[in-house]
Amino acid sequence: MNFDVIVVGGGPGGSTTASFLAKKYNKKVLLLEKEQFPRDKPCGDAISGKSMSVLADLGIKSNVEEVDPIRTHGVIISSPNGTVLDIPFKSKDPNRHSYGYVCKRFVYDNVLFQHAKSLPNVTTIESFHVNDLIFEGTQLVGVNGKDLTSGKEHEFRAKIIVGADGANGFVANKLSVGGLNEWHSVVSIRAYYDGVEGMKPAIEIHFVDSLIPGYFWIFPTSKSEANVGVGMITADMKKKRVNLQKAMFDIIENNALLSPRFKNAKITSEIKGWNLPLGSKIRKCSGNGYLLVGDAASLIDPFSGEGIGNAMYSGRLAARIINNAFENNDFTEATLGEYERRLHEELDYELGISYKLQKLGQNKFLLNWVIGKAARSEHVRETLSGMLANTQAKKGLVNPLFYLKLLFA
Ligand SMILES: Cc1cc2nc3c(=O)[nH]c(=O)nc-3n(C[C@H](O)[C@H](O)[C@H](O)COP(=O)(O)OP(=O)(O)OC[C@H]3O[C@@H](n4cnc5c(N)ncnc54)[C@H](O)[C@@H]3O)c2cc1C
Repeated sequence: MNFDVIVVGGGPGGSTTASFLAKKYNKKVLLLEKEQFPRDKPCGDAISGKSMSVLADLGIKSNVEEVDPIRTHGVIISSPNGTVLDIPFKSKDPNRHSYGYVCKRFVYDNVLFQHAKSLPNVTTIESFHVNDLIFEGTQLVGVNGKDLTSGKEHEFRAKIIVGADGANGFVANKLSVGGLNEWHSVVSIRAYYDGVEGMKPAIEIHFVDSLIPGYFWIFPTSKSEANVGVGMITADMKKKRVNLQKAMFDIIENNALLSPRFKNAKITSEIKGWNLPLGSKIRKCSGNGYLLVGDAASLIDPFSGEGIGNAMYSGRLAARIINNAFENNDFTEATLGEYERRLHEELDYELGISYKLQKLGQNKFLLNWVIGKAARSEHVRETLSGMLANTQAKKGLVNPLFYLKLLFA
């Protein structure tokens, strides 16, 4: 079999890359995935406006609508002292969506994977575990792996290999481009609860005293069921010896604001956790014969923990740069390095602001004060809403002048 590109991993990053390559650039793609779809992925299941722009570009927004995701129209935030703030998503930019989705990854990722699989130029092999990389000199030219059904080893070769194998990905590890850094990664766990009361079509982020620096979330997956979880910077969690599962149960059972909403709720799933490699740490993500996308490239928003949007965004960009490489007939870092430059140019500003916000979010006094002010002032709520919808405006949140103005708001 002859392929132009091999994509390792069929999550949002890998499926998006494969679909753009096949659909827009007419490339022959082999998509290798170690699981069998539909498969679960520990996540909060919140799909942001950024993902939706890529879905729309790929022409599959309606495929997602068909599986009936919850549409979220805002974010509810609470401060450590229990003040609750309801901020609608607002966007003046017609190219941005003023709503998001919550959709279980078991369902969402399957939509993306099946779409890639349906394209004539994409060959998919599931239950295939990539366990080695093949080099010719310094050029990556193929992968080796095991078909988990037959137990047989296979080798595949292509001009370019895309590592889309997630947070603990084999490809990035084998290329030695930098593993997880404790100060720039989060450990997070999630479970599904049925019977959570008082939910609105909004994502909920609660800055609870016992979890700072970190937060507790409730993301509605149906009218009564929610994806519930907690996350914390890995180094802080270790330093403070926080047991995330215990911390989550403690909030559900004892937190004055949240526990009443769980009094009739039942846990309906296992508790699953995973790492989140944050975009505050730059990882080399292109080289001779390869590109990395999504979590494999460490692109998760350091403040919100969102990674699906950047996984899809980087997948689309990777496909464009790969197409350039074929046009130039050059598969070395000289051409593929453009991917890394563009990625930094397009994402670093936003990731940098989110990193600053992550630091500010560790200050309980500031959280109590800003959320308290916004709860009392329509004007401050409007300002925050605009800031959350727009990266340029978000910069205001890390500007001391904003806090000075708040003194008089
Ligand atoms: C608890 C938790 C909550 C989160 N909440 C949110 C949220 O609400 N919203 C959000 O946007 N982001 C969230 N994230 C982050 C988000 O889950 C990731 O950023 C996103 O999954 C990245 O997509 P990806 O395609 O890069 O990787 P993945 O989704 O991890 O996909 C990688 C794929 O590669 C496959 N694979 C791995 N190794 C191999 C191998 N050797 N051979 C073949 N296949 C392989 C895997 O089976 C998997 O299917 C959360 C993360 C966690 C842990």
